[in-house]
Amino acid sequence: MKVLITGGAGFIGSYLADAFLERGDQVICMDAGSIAKVQHNFGNPNFVFVHDSILNEAMVDSLVAQVDLVYHMAAVVGVEHYVGDPYAVLNVNVNGTQVVLRAAYKHGKKVVFSSTSEVYGRNPKTPWAEDDDRVLGSTRIDRWCYSTSKAVGEHFCFAYHKLGLPVVVLRYFNVYGPRLDALDRGRVVTIFLGQALRNEPITVVGDGKQTRCFTYITDAVKATVAAGLVPGAVGEIINVGSAVETTILELAETIVRLSESKSQIVFVPQEKIYGTSYEDVPRRVPDTTKMENLLGVKAETPLEEGLKHTIEYFRQGCSS
Ligand code: UDP
Repeated sequence: MKVLITGGAGFIGSYLADAFLERGDQVICMDAGSIAKVQHNFGNPNFVFVHDSILNEAMVDSLVAQVDLVYHMAAVVGVEHYVGDPYAVLNVNVNGTQVVLRAAYKHGKKVVFSSTSEVYGRNPKTPWAEDDDRVLGSTRIDRWCYSTSKAVGEHFCFAYHKLGLPVVVLRYFNVYGPRLDALDRGRVVTIFLGQALRNEPITVVGDGKQTRCFTYITDAVKATVAAGLVPGAVGEIINVGSAVETTILELAETIVRLSESKSQIVFVPQEKIYGTSYEDVPRRVPDTTKMENLLGVKAETPLEEGLKHTIEYFRQGCSS
């Protein structure tokens, strides 16, 4: 089988490429960013890298035409971008997704779309089943532009599905592991890890009682591969996440302990880190019934085990 992965040099995309190559499939990886996460596959005859943006419609069209299955993982991700450059988030995520879906529809190729648990916003009723409500704040709060951009992508997926295109929508819950962002950047795990490895204060936003369900990369990738292969996933939205809820304070304490850091934990107001265009999500918990029943995958890697691998990776200076 031949698979196209847009955003294939990103965090989840690069592991997905590895997984399909291990199965013996051919992978075309399209990405406009750094090649660091896929460089180890250069030289593999089953791996092709195309350094280009999904906004290049002619290129996307020609690549989609060559493959059996499309994973659309390319997106502008990370809270720093939501509040720092909402234009890029909306432009790439909304317009880029249309480019990919248009080509897939033209050539009749199945698409697995990487969406996000951000789509649920701050719905207070947890755990979230896939058809639960989206509860978001004002459009004056830039934080919600990512959630909205991915929800528009999902609507486009289902609009094309009505026209006959096979689509699967995956909503990821705080996936982490080696190759996640770079130290100090992106998401909370790499931010805390950068601080811990330098023995600097760990900046817990608010009171640290907000929760996330941290999902180890290999579990998320198992579910992602299955989503492209299992016929019953077509036309579905599926949460991809661990069911274990962890507070951000617990995460900070665990990272300090596992990395044997001398860091102190400090509590900082959210405005200090993200300015006024940010609003936190108090609890984020998936209902994982569909993932388990439809994809046959349970995200079982314990947080401590996943963090140990992640700490080891970043300790060795692999910060790309
Ligand atoms: N967070 C924190 N300190 C930081 C960065 C993030 O306490 O230096 C918190 C953030 O407020 C949120 C959680 O960690 O409650 C997860 O943030 P992240 O940016 O990883 O993504 P999110 O899960 O909110 O999409």
